[in-house]
Amino acid sequence: MAHRVVIVGGGAAGMQTALELKSRGIEPVIVERDIELGGKARGWYKLFPSFTPAGDVMRPLAERVKRERIRCFYGQEVTEFAPDGVILRSGERIPADAVVVATGFTLFDAHRKQEYGYGLYDNVLTSVDLERMMNSGAVTLADGSMPRRIAILHCVGSRDEKVCQKHCSKVCCITGVKQAIELKQMFPEADIFNFYMDIRMFGPGYEELYREAQERHNIHFVRGRISEAAETINKRIQIKAEDTLTGRPLRMTVDMLVLLVGMSANYENAELAKRAGLELSPNGFFRTVDSFLGAVRSQREGIFFAGAATAPKSLADTLAEASLTASAVDEYLKNSFNK
Ligand code: SF4
Repeated sequence: MAHRVVIVGGGAAGMQTALELKSRGIEPVIVERDIELGGKARGWYKLFPSFTPAGDVMRPLAERVKRERIRCFYGQEVTEFAPDGVILRSGERIPADAVVVATGFTLFDAHRKQEYGYGLYDNVLTSVDLERMMNSGAVTLADGSMPRRIAILHCVGSRDEKVCQKHCSKVCCITGVKQAIELKQMFPEADIFNFYMDIRMFGPGYEELYREAQERHNIHFVRGRISEAAETINKRIQIKAEDTLTGRPLRMTVDMLVLLVGMSANYENAELAKRAGLELSPNGFFRTVDSFLGAVRSQREGIFFAGAATAPKSLADTLAEASLTASAVDEYLKNSFNK
């Protein structure tokens, strides 16, 4: 009989792990708390740095899961997991020979940075709101008009001790560059300003896109952090910042302010880790055995990780890691059960 592996989370990491396990003759079972598969990448518009439509990646994954008849539990939360299975909030227990934690991350709640007026001012939105607007084909200001000046603020809810998020979310710099180019293509007459602390372009093709944004699309990059935003009487957004290259304070009025929200650890991680005997990193993500040969292993034999449950990751890195996770699980099952 095939070994069974329960995968907690049906986003990109969970689906890819399940498909890889299935191809190795292992029975995967996905438990997803949403009512469909796909996680945060569902509803995303285009992926960096290639501008590939997100649906072109996520849809085939979900279709393959269906075609392979992988069993999925929808709308179910896992309250406990151990190497021999998981317990759902309903009380049902799903026995298994190993468990993969692919629970992903939580997007930083921009309301917590009150100084930017998210939720108060109509034309302050997050990078996620913008992505969904782009996907719906309707990017406008709240009154339906077109923006002529747009500011994009990096590191919202990342690298920020005040909100206990010291880590870099890794993918938002390149998201900011991608969205700036997309906005420029939609509104060629608009001036677009990216406010950043550092620009972190770690992935293949990222630096090239950053250069293209400046040289071909004339997007402005200002090293400085916006300290506050206020709404004007005509619903524009006045921002205060300091240009940290020149040391000069800066005031600017824009039509739209986009907050590049970071990736935070899930709130439930602490409780789940405690119950399962796992460790967390200081930033609240699950801690792996090490960053080199044990990057998908937990401190407990038989519990593995895939994707952004352990740290912020791009979708490409998430998919690559999921294959690694499946390989590690396969090796574990062979060594533990087939002696
Ligand atoms: S990737 Fe860029 S925007 Fe995101 S947290 Fe790191 S430095 Fe800030």
